[in-house]
Order: sequence, then structure tokens, then C-alpha cells
Amino acid sequence: KFMSGRELREKYLQFFASKEHLRLPSASLIPENDPTLLMIGAGMAPFKPFFTGKMKPPHTRITTSQKCVRTGDIENVGRTARHQTFFEMLGNFSFGDYFKREAIHWAWEFLTEHLEMPKDKLWVTIYPDDEEAYKIWAEEIGVNPEHIVKLEDNFWEIGPGPCGPCSEIYIDLGEERGCGSPDCAVGCDCDRFLEIWNLVFTQFDRDEEGNYSPLEKKNIDTGAGLERLASVLQNKRSNFETDLLFPIIEYASNVSNVAYGTNEKNDISLKVIADHARSMTIMILDGILPSNEGRGYVLRRIIRRAIRHGRLLGIESAFLTGAVDAVVEIFDEVFPELLEKQDYIKKVISLEEERFHTTLVQGMELLNHHIDELKQADKVVLSGEAAFKLYDTFGFPWELTAEILEENGLSLDKEAFDKAMTQQRERARAARQENQRISIPDLSGLDTEKLTFDMRAQSAQVICIWKD
Ligand code: ATP
Ligand code: MG
Ligand code: MG
Ligand code: MG
Repeated sequence: KFMSGRELREKYLQFFASKEHLRLPSASLIPENDPTLLMIGAGMAPFKPFFTGKMKPPHTRITTSQKCVRTGDIENVGRTARHQTFFEMLGNFSFGDYFKREAIHWAWEFLTEHLEMPKDKLWVTIYPDDEEAYKIWAEEIGVNPEHIVKLEDNFWEIGPGPCGPCSEIYIDLGEERGCGSPDCAVGCDCDRFLEIWNLVFTQFDRDEEGNYSPLEKKNIDTGAGLERLASVLQNKRSNFETDLLFPIIEYASNVSNVAYGTNEKNDISLKVIADHARSMTIMILDGILPSNEGRGYVLRRIIRRAIRHGRLLGIESAFLTGAVDAVVEIFDEVFPELLEKQDYIKKVISLEEERFHTTLVQGMELLNHHIDELKQADKVVLSGEAAFKLYDTFGFPWELTAEILEENGLSLDKEAFDKAMTQQRERARAARQENQRISIPDLSGLDTEKLTFDMRAQSAQVICIWKD
């Protein structure tokens, strides 16, 4: 029987609520009091102060479905079956409460009894020295020792602070989904062994010198990708075909008149649009606006990337606001604020889309001209100055230029680009100091009252938003 993404999310949260976890709503994508982090990329991130002991949690057991953005996975989107830039991470957390035994037993119970995943298809990885985890998996749960893989990588830490070994759960989707290599096994980058859940046992504290001492209060931090679980339960070949993403693909397919599943390159573009539409919608929902710096730049890059993939499918006119409607329909019950902010989100996106469209055509013309020139001259590297001009005049994120070049077997001189960028920043700074004025943003077409409110809420970001 079909299990929707919504049912799955609910089932997970209810399961852990039944194990006395406090159910909390997802935190914002914008980290609170954490300048080191651009955006939340894991379920545990909003709880860092609880893990380090800086703050007391409202409960020693918490469960959430956390909105996450990982820009580090942007190149994977559409190319693997399992990576998006935006996804939801289901998690259960223990702050000095239960530890390995419960975490492992409950994860297994949830997967095999509540989701009815076949036990013989599941594999687990552990840290080589973690005898305790090995015993629980092999002796208490009864996992076939051949399905327990020891991986040196299974140690989770970011700088000094709480850290520890982890144990991941994979499902074998069958040989026909694999890369065919004789070495293909758990941990292979192909789509055969799908990592669905990571259980982190934070049991050590690492000091500045790199010494590990056992923590008095041990913690549990787990993360399972909602879309990956959905792909397994809905029997789909990728996250993109689940009900959490597919309606957006259908929308893009209708607009472009390009059928899904007939051409690999087109499928990648459809998947990128579906993923990026979710990312941009939720980022704006959480108060991010397109800009040339920080989170705003990530958002801008995502919007412009989606537009470009639309063009690759032959979409010439603006289409992203329709994709936002599809996103809202997917999420309206989980994030009801979306309905309230739907028009606002669409306005922000259509303004950015308009802005990009007018220059994209000219910029592409110039870039194609450069590409021809390079090919004719038997060269492979585009100069930093040319790439910078594309950025400065046409608003091409350098990553976009690099991607288009790469598709043509070329690359760009990133060092020279960076240099041109630094010089421009210095010039801009000098100019700003000279007239001491901030230019008035162009707000035509926007609900200014609402925008002002949003801007106030994130004043640090406001200044640079409309400058280009
Ligand atoms: P992978 O090795 O597949 O890239 P990961 O080891 O980077 O995953 P973790 O950091 O362990 O992932 O995150 C916990 C869980 O979150 C993963 O087991 C997976 O189910 C999910 N997840 C991680 N990255 C993504 C992504 N980009 N898109 C969708 N789900 C993800
Ligand atoms: Mg990863
Ligand atoms: Mg992994
Ligand atoms: Mg992992």
C-alpha cells in the first residue's frame, strides 16, 4: 500500500513520541546565534548548545523533521538518485539520556516493523573500534555479521567538542541499480546501497590538542533522509519520483513540453528544477532574499541555476512562480506559513527571474562566443577577466560559468577571477566611503510593507540585497 511522504514523516515523529520524545517543529534554515554556519544542514545543528551543555534542553529526548540545505551537494542533484540541496532530515536526539542500545534497537524496530523493510536487505556500518555497537547489532538485533561493515570514516566530529563514532543503516536496492563494478559494496557512490540513516553516538569530548576524553553525559544524534525513506517505501528509482518532489517535475514537464524519463539530460534538468524550486521557496519562507553575499548569494545561485535548466529544456519565459505553487501544495500542511507567504515568495522570485532573464540571453551569447573562440584557438581555460565580466555585467554566478564551460570540456581561471573580484570589492568599498550613502533599492512590484518587515528581521543582510 502507498505511503505518502506526509504519512511517513508523521509515522516517524509519532514513533519517537511514543518513546517519550518531545516533538518539536523544524527550526528555521537560518541558524540562531551561530555565525560559523551559513544554513542548517542537519537535524542536530539547531541543538548544538544542548550537546555542548551550553544550554539546557526542554526535554532530554527530542524528535524533529528538520529542514536542511546542503549546497555542497548541488553538483550531485539530478546526477545521483539520492541528493537534493533541500531535504528533510528526520531525527531523534538524546541529551544525556538513552544511548547506543536504545538508538539502535529503535531504529531497527522502526524500519523493520513499522515500515516493514526486509531485514535481509539491510546493511549497517560501524566504526572499527566500536565493539559495543558491533555486539548490539550482531548479538542483540541479530544482523548477519557479513552485513556489518567496519568503516574508518564512521567517526563524527567537527573541530573540538562533542564527537564520537557513528553507525549507518543502508538498504541494498539490488544489483541492477549498481554501477556494475566488482568492488561495488556498501559505501560505493552508486545507487545500489542507499544510506538511509546515520546514528551518531556522541560519547567523547575532544579538546584543542586533539585528546579525547569520555563525556560524562553521552548523547545520541540521528538523521534519516525523509525523501530517501519515501523512495524506498514508494518503490521509486529516486527521491525525485516520490510525492515529495514529483509534482514539481510534472509541472516543469508540462511547461516545457518535455516528457520525463525519455532522455537522461532532460531528466537531470527536470530534477534540478524540482529540487531548486523547493530550496528557493523554503529559503525565502525563512527570510532569505537574493543578494550577492552569504545566504542571499546561495539563493540567487539556486534561482539562476533553475532558470538555466529551464532554458535547457526550451522554456523561454518566466516559469518559477508556477513551480512555487507546486511546492506549496506539497508542504502546505507541514509548513502552513507557506500559504500566508506564498504571494510574497512568488514576488521575490519573479523579480529575480525577470532581472536574470534580461541579461541571461546577452550573457549566454557572450559566453558562447568565448567558448567558440577558445575551441578555435585550441585553448581550454577561460580567462578570469572574461568570467568576471560575465559576473559583473550579466550576473552570472561564477559557478554557472564554470558549469557551462565544463559541459564543453573547458574550465575557468578561478584565481584570476578571484583577483578581479577582490579588486572590485575594494573599489566598491572606497566608493561607499566616499559618498556615505546607501542606494535606495528598487522595490517596484513588491509588497514593501512586508519586505520592510522581513528586512528588519534580518537587518545584517539588508544592505546588500538590491545593490546590483
Ligand atoms: P551521503 O553519503 O549519501 O551523501 P551523508 O553521509 O552525507 O549521505 P549524513 O550527513 O549522514 O549524510 O546525513 C544523515 C542522513 O540525511 C543521510 O543518511 C541521508 O538519509 C540524508 N541526507 C544527507 N544528505 C542528503 C541530501 N543531499 N539529500 C537528501 N538526503 C540527504
Ligand atoms: Mg553527503
Ligand atoms: Mg554517507
Ligand atoms: Mg552519513
